[in-house]
Amino acid sequence: MDELLERLIESNRHYTTAGKLANYIPELAKANQNELGIYVVSSDGRTSFAGDCQKNFTIQSIIKPILLLLALMDNGEEMVRSHVGVEATGKPFDAINYTDQTLLSEHLNPMVNMGAILLCTLIKGQSYSEKFERLLELTRTLAGNPDITVNEAVYQSEKRTGSRNRALAFLLKSQGLLSDDVEEVLDCYFRGCSIQVNCKDLANIGFTFANRGRRPVSEERVFSARFAHYVNAVLMTCGMYDGAGDFAVRVGLPAKSGVGGGIMAISPTRMGIGIYSPGLDQKGNSLAGIHVLEDLSHTLYLSVF
Ligand code: GLN
Repeated sequence: MDELLERLIESNRHYTTAGKLANYIPELAKANQNELGIYVVSSDGRTSFAGDCQKNFTIQSIIKPILLLLALMDNGEEMVRSHVGVEATGKPFDAINYTDQTLLSEHLNPMVNMGAILLCTLIKGQSYSEKFERLLELTRTLAGNPDITVNEAVYQSEKRTGSRNRALAFLLKSQGLLSDDVEEVLDCYFRGCSIQVNCKDLANIGFTFANRGRRPVSEERVFSARFAHYVNAVLMTCGMYDGAGDFAVRVGLPAKSGVGGGIMAISPTRMGIGIYSPGLDQKGNSLAGIHVLEDLSHTLYLSVF
């Protein structure tokens, strides 16, 4: 397996320079575009890795499945679904859909920004900093890494420049869908996106979703199998935004991307996969990362279709 991963990294490395670094969050534009790494956790307990898999990067939108999971754990499926629906948007992650359709809860999706911002309000906690601490703690538990922290520079950079997310949050507020203070809600969202991880962390988190809520090796249950089904289904239909259909055909796995260059992919019952390469395609997904996943999926017959 290590050999296969090495081969896939080397044969796809030329794609790293074809992508574009996210620069709308200025701090992300400082990444090294040539980097490409992968880490795989398999159901037999084995781990394999290749390339720049030890590099740290911010989780960005890959926090969304964890946010959704925590909202489900705190409130149950019915309550979450009544606030944030599950229908795919077919739109970019920061799209303002309001012009196309009336803004209703059922048109919000937890994997795009508007839905994820609203999810922050559903997390239990006395304050938004307590809500965030619980999100960070769940991330650490899923990754099996107590040292995970926030990248302060990225957090400050995103907080300073996040006008688009402010617009989305105010739109929710204007529709009566969000009642709390917009800045406080966004602070939780921005901090969540700025959590720093590596490929191994993403592989471990992904494995827990693949393993229906149980952690690797110890098989300790963190959440119910039902919630794993729920999150995986949403990831399959909207985890890669308006690239979800193309990704389903090419790779065929539930997955979540982030503009930091990470991808977490889930092969149900088989493996969790963490990938990093910061050059993005036009939809904001890691370009080289998708190519590596496509080859891995073909080689190991991972597509769920
Ligand atoms: N923090 C980013 C944003 O809200 C996350 C987007 C992403 O990773 N696609 O714009």
